[in-house]
Amino acid sequence: MALSEPWIEHFFVGPLQMRCSVVTDRSTGDTVIVDGGDEPQRLIDWIDGFQGRGPDWSTGPASADEAGGLPARRVTALINTHAHFDHSGFIPVLRDHYNVPWYLHPDDTYLQTLAQRSGLRYGLSLPEPAVADHELIPDSTMAFGSVPVRVLHTPGHTLGGCCLLVEVDDGPDHVFVGDTLFAGSVGRTDIADSGGDFDLLAASIHGQLWPLPLDTVVHPGHGPLTTIGHERATNPFVGDAAGKGVYGFGKYA
Ligand SMILES: [Zn+2]
Ligand SMILES: [Zn+2]
Repeated sequence: MALSEPWIEHFFVGPLQMRCSVVTDRSTGDTVIVDGGDEPQRLIDWIDGFQGRGPDWSTGPASADEAGGLPARRVTALINTHAHFDHSGFIPVLRDHYNVPWYLHPDDTYLQTLAQRSGLRYGLSLPEPAVADHELIPDSTMAFGSVPVRVLHTPGHTLGGCCLLVEVDDGPDHVFVGDTLFAGSVGRTDIADSGGDFDLLAASIHGQLWPLPLDTVVHPGHGPLTTIGHERATNPFVGDAAGKGVYGFGKYA
């Protein structure tokens, strides 16, 4: 199962400028929201009517006029790479609006209960944390309406961290990696109550991400886009040369 020319939008939301990604099947309008962590009204206004402030990056039409020939978007699911509050804090608002289920890996269930408290440290007033409706099932391709997403369990930043792969039949695949991998870096492994572990994170990246095609576009939770090939070649923490004397430690000291 693969999409053709998926319509992907990024919204950098909240004080940590977390990348929320919205993926739409142009042929049906079916849409999933990856990591709806903040600014829910901005997302809703844009997705439902191109009225709010537009996305920060998009492969789709820039206005309702341009979208005229496409089916209306219909949000079918909310899915999360992990449960840190910047990625999940406003899921309850999106879930109420769209009345669709929220999917999370079960190993992040406890972390999710802490979202409201974690947000307070940043002066954020978050709604009562959502409880996931369904589990993301690792090593399976889950169909959210007509949008197929392959679930790769990649613990290390959090216990239940997952990378979400959207396969494309007429272009490179796209993988939404949350805070597992960044352009030139990797996710923190020192955040309280999250189960972070650098060796586990590196094993997840080596085992689950590096086998993907080199031109796969990597959409991290923060910062620039990159590709699997670029990170394998250059990432100082987990790239192919890390730990072989080229970059030194290859991990946080
Ligand atoms: Zn995180
Ligand atoms: Zn984050």
